[in-house]
Amino acid sequence: MSSKVSKIQHLGVAVSSIEDALNFWREGMGLELGAVEVVEDQGVKVALLPIGESRIELLEPTGDETPVGKFIAKRGQGIHHICVEVDDVAAKLEELKTRGVRLIDEQPRIGAAGALVAFIHPANTGGVLIELTQKGTGSH
Ligand code: ZN
Repeated sequence: MSSKVSKIQHLGVAVSSIEDALNFWREGMGLELGAVEVVEDQGVKVALLPIGESRIELLEPTGDETPVGKFIAKRGQGIHHICVEVDDVAAKLEELKTRGVRLIDEQPRIGAAGALVAFIHPANTGGVLIELTQKGTGSH
C-alpha cells in the first residue's frame, strides 16, 4: 500500500548551542520559539520554531557520543535532516523496503512530542538523511 506524502514537516539543523542559534533564528529572523524538549534516547535537545506550515528544528546534542554530537564533530553544524510528513509511516517503510531503500528504522518509533517517526539512511537518498513523520501524530 502506498502512503501519501503531504509536505516538508520540518528541517532539522544541528547546532552546538540552541541558545546561540536563537540569536539568528529568533532575534534575527523573528521566528517564535515553540516547544523545547530533550529526547533522551536520541541524546538530543530539540527546539521547534514554526515557519509557515513548516518548522525549523534545532538539534543540540546532550553529549559528544550522541548521533548529533558525532554529526557535528564530523561535518560541523548545519542541515541535519529533512522531515517529510506521510499518512502512514509503517506503510511507507514497507514500500521503501521493497524498493531496496536502506532504512535506519525498520519500524516507526516515538520521536519528539510523541510523533510517530522513522529515519531513512542517506545511502539511497542522495546523501540526505530523511525523517518520516506520520500526519496527525505528536502534539505539535
Ligand atoms: Zn526531525
